[in-house]
Amino acid sequence: RTILGIESSCDDTAAAVVRQDDEGTVILSSVVFGQTTLHAAFGGVVPEIAARAHAEKVDHCVEQALLKANVKLRDCDAIAVTAGPGLIGGVLSGVMCAKGLAAATGFPLIGVNHLAGHALTPRLTDDVAFPYLMLLVSGGHCQFLIAHSDDRFERIGGTIDDAPGEAFDKTARLLGLPQPGGPAVERAAATGDPKRFKLPRPLLDRADCDMSFSGLKTALLRARDSVIGPDQTLKAADQADLAAGFQAAMTDVLRAKTARALDIYLALSPAEPVLAVAGGVAANMPIRHALTDLCATSGVRFVAPPLALCTDNAAMIAFAGLHRLARADFDDLSLSARPRWPLDGAAPGMLGSGK
Ligand code: ATP
Ligand code: FE
Repeated sequence: RTILGIESSCDDTAAAVVRQDDEGTVILSSVVFGQTTLHAAFGGVVPEIAARAHAEKVDHCVEQALLKANVKLRDCDAIAVTAGPGLIGGVLSGVMCAKGLAAATGFPLIGVNHLAGHALTPRLTDDVAFPYLMLLVSGGHCQFLIAHSDDRFERIGGTIDDAPGEAFDKTARLLGLPQPGGPAVERAAATGDPKRFKLPRPLLDRADCDMSFSGLKTALLRARDSVIGPDQTLKAADQADLAAGFQAAMTDVLRAKTARALDIYLALSPAEPVLAVAGGVAANMPIRHALTDLCATSGVRFVAPPLALCTDNAAMIAFAGLHRLARADFDDLSLSARPRWPLDGAAPGMLGSGK
């Protein structure tokens, strides 16, 4: 079976072709058009700009994915598309494109939850059995999910305010480092002293798996202002120490909360326990080392898919669609875009944050 996947929920327009047969699953192509340069001047994703760029790019992106895969549209068996959660204008571009293709070919249309795409990725890249624990840490999301099956995910905690990637990006801005903030902060932190500035580890006194990062940002601002020069410049050494302090706080919180999430997960007595990560922040080496180390001491296998599949892409959407194709669980042409769509059961469009 061959499936076309389309993704346009945030600031990447993506299309991919994935094939599954008795031999296994192969990504035939995965094309991603980023929008970073379009939004760079605004210090964040501008929804109207994103929507227009998706609308302009999505058809071309699909053509490129088919071309690279050397597959004709008529050779596909279904069309999977992210139907939410995300920026409504972007999601709509993808959904409308997918509906057009489905209407023209008569192929089944499958509306995929973006978070389910991330959450299923470890099964695309590694031999991972249900149930596994998933930590999704990206620019827009931070949550612990227990994946019980391809259509049942249990959210056991997550951020109550900012996502870690967002916090890395804001930190970079505060320290005068370039965007995307994560890699820049990681680089600056490498030569810094993480203990010089005392930054908070929010919510560690709470026994649950919830996290908060907005207080960390405020504390960092105060620490920065205590050393910034009258001409508003930071010395390189101060910049490095602030970056290192922030990254250490982030790492400590993620490690401690992951330990709690593992307790809840391991109580299910999984036969082959796995912690998998997804999202751009999973690229951070100190965070990765902390999680690897935690898993080693807990007897849990740590699975980190390649970065290109950890960040937004359409191969994960196609792969999630394959599960639905196998069950002949399809949507019809009335499929709607859902800006909010929690993974764990609440009815689509109901209150509840996508975070
Ligand atoms: P979402 O996928 O939730 O819609 P997104 O597209 O912004 O949001 P990703 O593409 O998964 O998220 O990841 C981008 C985020 O990851 C950015 O916030 C970026 O700063 C962060 N990031 C990337 N590399 C690193 C790193 N080495 N350390 C920390 N953060 C990083
Ligand atoms: Fe994402």
